[in-house]
Amino acid sequence: MHDLDLLRYSRQIMLEAIDIEGQERLLAGHVLVVGAGGLGSPVALYLAAAGVGRLTLADADEVELSNLQRQIAHGEADLGRNKAESAREAAQALNPGCRIEARTTHLEGQAMAAAVAAADVVLDCTDRFSSRYAINAACRAAGVPLVSGAAIRFSGQLAVFDPRDPEGPCYACLYPPDGQGDAALSCAESGVVAPLVGLIGSFQALEAIKLLAGAGTPHRGLATFDGLSGEWRRFTVPRDPHCPVCGEA
Ligand SMILES: [Zn+2]
Repeated sequence: MHDLDLLRYSRQIMLEAIDIEGQERLLAGHVLVVGAGGLGSPVALYLAAAGVGRLTLADADEVELSNLQRQIAHGEADLGRNKAESAREAAQALNPGCRIEARTTHLEGQAMAAAVAAADVVLDCTDRFSSRYAINAACRAAGVPLVSGAAIRFSGQLAVFDPRDPEGPCYACLYPPDGQGDAALSCAESGVVAPLVGLIGSFQALEAIKLLAGAGTPHRGLATFDGLSGEWRRFTVPRDPHCPVCGEA
């Protein structure tokens, strides 16, 4: 590591759980972030700033005026631009040493499988059930850990699904594909309070850093946050033996 990097990352390197080895693992790490909106914005900024060596940001959408209330990687000058491109530029400005690639088309099928398999950790920052299932299936198939975040209205949630843990559930164990719960609603339809996406996105970035650096233990189960009461709750998520994605069948 260069002297300037030692200085840049000194506040992380001084942490016993990260240290120089952990920082080097971060610098060698590659994170795929699917979605460069409300969750993807803080995720991209924090991961670039923290020294993750390589980021792939994927989003096919364009920045709209109603996004600026919470999608803090984008500014007014970015209106009409692709979100992955805009977030790439913002994250790159924070840390020119980070190698950042923008994927500007909707990731699906083989492209999704290849992008997931090339990453060390995948962060689901989307707000569509179809994308969430596709990302989960690709992560299971490739054995890559998935950090899933969601935020709507005043409620947020986070879960880490690690296929390397034989006891670990997957996203489809938690939300069977046939069920359509509250989380199926999008922010466009239901609204969301600005800092909530920052809170959940930052939580996702933290879990990604822990996974890459080998710090602490990954978050287990499902964490939910109710912004109106300020209350966090944690639920156990058992693996479903009949899960269509990771079940025995
Ligand atoms: Zn499953």
